[in-house]
Amino acid sequence: MSTHMSPRLAATLFVPSRDPATLRARLVDHVGRHARVETVEGGDILLSSELGLSRLTLDVGGLLIAAESRDPTGLAYIKMIMADHVLEFGEAGIALRWIGGGAAGLPLPFFRKMTVTAVATIGRFRRLTLKGDDLGRFAEGGLHVRLLLPAEGVRQRWPVTGDDGRPWWPDGNPPPARVYTLRRIDVAAGEVEIDMLLHADHHDAPGAAFAERARPGDVVGMTGPGGGDLPEAADYLLFADETGLPAVARMLAEMPAGRRVRAILEVEDQKDRQVLPGAAKADFVWLHRRDGARLETVAAAIGADDLPPDVVVWGGMEHTARRAIYRRAIDIWGLPRDRLRLASYWRRGQAGGDHHHDDAA
Ligand SMILES: Cc1cc2nc3c(=O)[nH]c(=O)nc-3n(C[C@H](O)[C@H](O)[C@H](O)COP(=O)(O)OP(=O)(O)OC[C@H]3O[C@@H](n4cnc5c(N)ncnc54)[C@H](O)[C@@H]3O)c2cc1C
Repeated sequence: MSTHMSPRLAATLFVPSRDPATLRARLVDHVGRHARVETVEGGDILLSSELGLSRLTLDVGGLLIAAESRDPTGLAYIKMIMADHVLEFGEAGIALRWIGGGAAGLPLPFFRKMTVTAVATIGRFRRLTLKGDDLGRFAEGGLHVRLLLPAEGVRQRWPVTGDDGRPWWPDGNPPPARVYTLRRIDVAAGEVEIDMLLHADHHDAPGAAFAERARPGDVVGMTGPGGGDLPEAADYLLFADETGLPAVARMLAEMPAGRRVRAILEVEDQKDRQVLPGAAKADFVWLHRRDGARLETVAAAIGADDLPPDVVVWGGMEHTARRAIYRRAIDIWGLPRDRLRLASYWRRGQAGGDHHHDDAA
């Protein structure tokens, strides 16, 4: 949210500190990477993003953080992000307690309990249909969610808002979480669709293992939404492996007519190809990994002159491929960062995914 919108919900947190100036500098350094930073009259620092606004004020014996947002999800996210960073950089043993909107014990605005209602197999994907209440906020401000995946046979109890603004889990530790894309969302029906890949290493992998055993009636937690905004452009060049394919499907389904898209899509083989409808003029290049074809090899054959002017380049794929395409986009294509959205969706050999955006080379 920009500063000229009028946020309405508010909460404040006083963080006791012997050195509030250093604590504030570290917060600004980290949180400010994803926000606009402004020093205002009196020396306060404002951090603003699409979530809302926080004002950081040096006070006697500590730092005062005042958060504002136009919606409960934005406020809850700011409270959680600030608390996470304060606990990382602040003095050991401090107890945090937000005062104001989104009080402790209330439901977390960015959390939904979802029930599996249908399971289909599409190539190496399981397509899960999940139903839940009040999904309107999940249709705006991001394509992705975090699924909280209970272990097999466990009756999971779900979190509420903690004193410190972070999720409070009644049974202690949360279940493992993995990031997925809402391939489709139907707010009126209270329904989302997620394509979860059954990848090669999936037997000890909470995401893929859940997808494999999922049956109607199973319950999963969902937090979000987040990430995946696509800047306005006439031309898009998209790169995706299977993990980015659901995002490509959603972007194409929602893109207005008149846009031109070239999508380079790497899948294991013919069976993983999908029909991707949409109003844009789209041209698909399917690469089969089994035959040795790779996203980064195709990118390496694209020169700066092959790209339409002002093209936006988007990608969701494995870490190494993303790094190679990112380097090419900067060094050879000469694209400015605001026309690049290349993310690492997973990292070979690393559980829990990987989510590095364009600023990380
Ligand atoms: C923004 C975003 C959106 C995403 N959307 C989707 C989506 O819609 N659908 C989807 O299926 N995935 C998606 N992913 C990727 C997904 O989060 C990761 O693949 C995640 O690691 C899967 O969790 P897991 O529990 O199955 O495996 P993990 O426990 O995380 O990993 C276990 C092992 O499997 C390997 N592994 C993980 N993913 C793959 C893979 N794709 N191929 C081969 N090996 C793998 C890991 O390197 C590790 O060695 C998305 C990721 C991000 C960041």
